[in-house]
Amino acid sequence: MRVVLIGAPGSGKGTQALRLAGHYGATHLAAGDRLRAEVASGNELGRRLAGYLSRGDLVPDDLVIELMWRPIVEAAATGGYVLDGFPRTLAQAEAAYAMGTQAGVTAHAAVYLEGDAQALVGRMLRRAGTGGRTDDVESVIRHRLEVFELLTAPLVEHYAGRGMLVRVDAMAEVDAVTAAIEAALEPLRPAAD
Ligand code: AMP
Repeated sequence: MRVVLIGAPGSGKGTQALRLAGHYGATHLAAGDRLRAEVASGNELGRRLAGYLSRGDLVPDDLVIELMWRPIVEAAATGGYVLDGFPRTLAQAEAAYAMGTQAGVTAHAAVYLEGDAQALVGRMLRRAGTGGRTDDVESVIRHRLEVFELLTAPLVEHYAGRGMLVRVDAMAEVDAVTAAIEAALEPLRPAAD
């Protein structure tokens, strides 16, 4: 199974992505984790990325595509993927679709974890500062939400137009969200997986 997860900061994307990957025997690929690993390694790419991450801005499309592409192809060959935080712009989605079509690894479904923006910020603020992330302070959290609404939310229509979108209420209790996603994905699951 090959799935893309879309959701604002605080929507529970990471938690749900891990659970779905377990459920489908797929690989959880988190763009943010990979970018943070580059920053932590202190290499030249990491130094270029650090400022974007700490400001809560998106890193340039070509860099994130470059970083994610090989793992996506590898995961597709071994049980599929659950993409957490990629694509995050229309340009990324279009590039992934074009490359994915050629390689036969396009997603079967996109899940939108829907939640009220104010409630999501509240949820983020309650846990702010506990995970050691440089982007986990109130002003950056608010900016990340704006970036989501401006640049990432348009992906919802993109995937709806491709007939592969499911919407799930992200504000429900965590197990209920997982169950709702799995139920909604069942009709989109490929016969061979
Ligand atoms: P996340 O862990 O998904 O919240 O991502 C943390 C940060 O990594 C984001 O605020 C961006 O700075 C960067 N990032 C993650 N995924 C992407 C992406 N697909 N495109 C550009 N920047 C990204």
